[in-house]
Amino acid sequence: MLHTPQSIPSSEHFEIQTLSEGVYAAIAKEFGAAFSNSGIIDLGGLTLVFDTFETPKAAEDLRAAAQSLTGRLPDYVINSHNHADHWFGNQAFAGQATIISTHKTRDLMPVYLEELKTLKQNPSELSTSLEENLRLLDTETDPQKRKAIEGYVARLKHSLESLPVLELILPNQTFGNKIVFYGSKRSAELLALGNGHTSGDCFLALPEENIAFLGDLAFFKRQPYMEDCDFTAWKNILDEISQSNLETFVPGHGPVGTKTDLLLLLQYLNALEDLIKQTKLAGGSVENALSMPMPEPFDEWRHIGQHRFEDNVRFLFQHLS
Ligand SMILES: [Zn+2]
Repeated sequence: MLHTPQSIPSSEHFEIQTLSEGVYAAIAKEFGAAFSNSGIIDLGGLTLVFDTFETPKAAEDLRAAAQSLTGRLPDYVINSHNHADHWFGNQAFAGQATIISTHKTRDLMPVYLEELKTLKQNPSELSTSLEENLRLLDTETDPQKRKAIEGYVARLKHSLESLPVLELILPNQTFGNKIVFYGSKRSAELLALGNGHTSGDCFLALPEENIAFLGDLAFFKRQPYMEDCDFTAWKNILDEISQSNLETFVPGHGPVGTKTDLLLLLQYLNALEDLIKQTKLAGGSVENALSMPMPEPFDEWRHIGQHRFEDNVRFLFQHLS
């Protein structure tokens, strides 16, 4: 028996996009408390949620949306990797759903328990950063830079608000390379291809519809976060996925996209690599690399994210020989 939702649920934190009957992307709204994208999949008799956002309040809306769209509370919740904005909402599903990640991601999570304990005892790190960024807004006149600061201010406010109630729930099931879920309507493959955006990423593919939820293996129309990546391995994964039958991709950040978006991300990584290699060949410093222009359309991407371009240049300058 198919569950047909009466209407698409709404939340101030995300927007539900129907990709196929029973397959939904939850795309983070600007200034909301989700901060990353999630997915809701009705397998038929089994409901899957892919990633749980950064805060319990956004995750509670996600759980409610999953129940409304599929007629069930989620049976399985997947954490694509260990970054906070993809699993700090786990508590909204605790005790109801099996929470799954790769072995490696689960191994990387306990350090956050200690960090959270310290932060709860002394939240001044967050409040000081909030005050500093609010002060920046007093003087910043560049509209793109203002937007980036406003986004960060909103994220800090949500984090501070969530802090007293935030409890970290770790996955209670782990896997190595592959899990296949079989429902009455469709199957889903949870896959891990090794090092990439982090050392523990997994992604969910729906072979019947050629749709995949990629977590932070993909950032669309914005610069990726690279601090924990294995640069070469990540590019190889993007290359492998782009050569598969998959056609529709839900990234960890940005709008739903296609192979074109995936290849554009790969081109960004290659353009950044070229920029660093050219600078190094000319005997230049990291400061020289920071002042070099990026080709179109990545020159536009430079302005998205307050310090992302600088962070990425510094990361790659250090890691490329
Ligand atoms: Zn990430």
